[in-house]
Amino acid sequence: MAKAIKFDKKILGKKNKNPLSWEESFMLHAMVAAGRSKDPSSQVGACIVGKNNRILSLGYNGAPNVWKDEEFPWDRDHEDAKLNKYPYVIHAEMNALLNYKGDNKDLEGATLYVTLFPCHECAKFFAQAGIKKIIYLSDKYYDTEDNTMSKTCLDYCGVEYKQLDLDFQKDYIVSLIPDKKEQIKKSI
Ligand code: ZN
Repeated sequence: MAKAIKFDKKILGKKNKNPLSWEESFMLHAMVAAGRSKDPSSQVGACIVGKNNRILSLGYNGAPNVWKDEEFPWDRDHEDAKLNKYPYVIHAEMNALLNYKGDNKDLEGATLYVTLFPCHECAKFFAQAGIKKIIYLSDKYYDTEDNTMSKTCLDYCGVEYKQLDLDFQKDYIVSLIPDKKEQIKKSI
């Protein structure tokens, strides 16, 4: 057996003292996913995380894959309901669920991170998929009929939900060019 390297205690433990928490990290993944949305009025992102804090899938709200974004009705307030986006758009969390091509068993006990509280349609599908926790940022439709139905479904199905209060004073800078991180901080 090879002789193990012995480390002097003085050289150990010099870790980054201020890393992102798991919750912050996964919500930021959801936020980055939201940035891909072509919806002009609402960009939502979702990140499904399995047990052991492994990301299973990401998604954002959008048209079905084969429907060209340029040929999609993005309106939200056309008087003729069938000419609006609503009947056709796929919500971010549903896209994340559909994007997952692994074993459905991995979804049992998983957590959904989503930038906007799920609608009642998504809520029931996630409850059925076995998701046990939903962490969200915005709840801008709080107390609307849809929001109440969504929470009713989650409550009856034993799905926990919690709003994440991101501390926007915290330094979330992650440079794409690590060598330039200090330089980028100074320029903000
Ligand atoms: Zn939905």
